[in-house]
Formats: sequence, structure tokens, C-alpha cells
Amino acid sequence: MGRYNRVLLKLSGEILAGKSGFGLDLEEVSNICAEIADVAREGIQVAMVVGGGNIMRGQQAVQKGMERAQADSMGMLATVINALALQDSLERMGMSTRVQTAVEMRQVAEPFIRRRAIRHLEKGRIVIFAAGTGSPYFSTDTAAALRASEIGASCLLKATKVDGIYDDDPAKNPQAKRLSSVSYREALTKGLKIMDAAAFALCQENNIPIIVFDVLKRGNLRSLLVDDKPVGSVVCSNPVGC
Ligand code: UDP
Repeated sequence: MGRYNRVLLKLSGEILAGKSGFGLDLEEVSNICAEIADVAREGIQVAMVVGGGNIMRGQQAVQKGMERAQADSMGMLATVINALALQDSLERMGMSTRVQTAVEMRQVAEPFIRRRAIRHLEKGRIVIFAAGTGSPYFSTDTAAALRASEIGASCLLKATKVDGIYDDDPAKNPQAKRLSSVSYREALTKGLKIMDAAAFALCQENNIPIIVFDVLKRGNLRSLLVDDKPVGSVVCSNPVGC
């Protein structure tokens, strides 16, 4: 097993939408869940925070005149839909899972209870955290950093469609350089956009390494977590040692 035994995986809604960019692509959900199940079977404790951008993004609705807290509540509910899709897919693969929501809806899932979440992880269950932080004006990146801190995760895995952190947008600048490891300080001074400021600050304060990696590349999670291979880019306090 690699160096990370309890991980918090942040999956954006966009990843679950597949090529269409909206809603849920159940085949894509299943592909990603197969990768997650694979590492969980190896004994890695996996918790997840899922986004909702494939269904509802608060700020976009605000631009069209909607009240912010109302729009954000809709965004948080969207993450629950995604969490249930992930749960269904993982359970059909024979995995044991729990969904915990930051907004209570006991008929659908457990409420978020930190100690209970840790107990589930210890028993080998995959825990999916939904409804963000439960408060408007936050993002699911911040929820991921918060939950990672609360459960004592050894790293935060930020699942993306690119293979790491670049010094410029690789989609716009073909000269953009990939950085395999950077310190929190360097990421701030270079203005690298890794997570929003609140999420980044939480990880830095609690010394949780952030690993940005391509979740769509088959086997990446296994290489990273089981085979301890360098995958993606890592942000930590001392890049030489992480
Ligand atoms: N959201 C919120 N509070 C939270 C997390 C999320 O209000 O703690 C809302 C916000 O409107 C956000 C939406 O839920 O736009 C979906 O989350 P996010 O945009 O972070 O999803 P992702 O981009 O990861 O798919």
C-alpha cells in the first residue's frame, strides 16, 4: 500500500456529466466508480465529496437574477442527486457505502456525523459526503477541504480532466509547463488556480497535501494509492518530502 491510507476524493459534477457536460452520464459514473472500488478493495479508506455543477451552479443562477442563498440550496441538493448515483453504482459493484448529507434528509441518507463517518471508513465502507458544507456561499471544494480535515484524511485528491497543475492554462497556452510538486506558498505567489481560496487555506492550515490528477485515465487511482507511483501534481508544505 502507498503512503495515503485514508483519502478524500473530490469529484466535480462536471466529471460525472461525461461528454454532454450536463446531467449524469451513468456509464461515466460507472467507469469512475470501478476505479474507486478497485482501490477500496485494496484497503484504502475512501471518502468522497461530490459537486453539483452538472445540474446546478448557484452563481450562474444568481447572474440570471436568482437570490443567492436560494440558488445555492438548489446547488447543494444537486450534489445529493450525484451522491445517490455514485452510491448506486458502487453498491452494484458489491461495495459497502454510506451517503452522509450536510442538510438533513433522513429518508434518503444519513446526516453528517463526523465520528460516524470515521467509523464507516474504519469498517471499509466508502463514505460519500453530499450537500456541500450545508451552507450557501461555499463551494464543494471547500466542503472537500473541510471534510478532509474533519476525518483526518492523509490527502485531498482533486479529480480533474487534466494530468496535474500547470503554470498556465494548458488549453490556451501550449507552452504551459506541468509542475509535479509545489508548496502552498509557491502556489499562492504564482497565482496557480488549484482550489478556491477558502478550500486552499483549510488544506494549508491543516497540512493536507492536495493531489491534482486525471481521474479519466484508467488505473491512475491505483497507481497513485496502491502502487505509490507519482501521479498528477502535489501541493504540500515541503514539496521535496511529499
Ligand atoms: N454549494 C453551496 N454550499 C456548499 C457547496 C456547494 O451552496 O457548501 C452550492 C453552490 O451553489 C455550488 C453548487 O452547490 O455552485 C454546486 O457545487 P460546486 O459548484 O462546488 O460543484 P462542482 O463545480 O464541484 O461540480
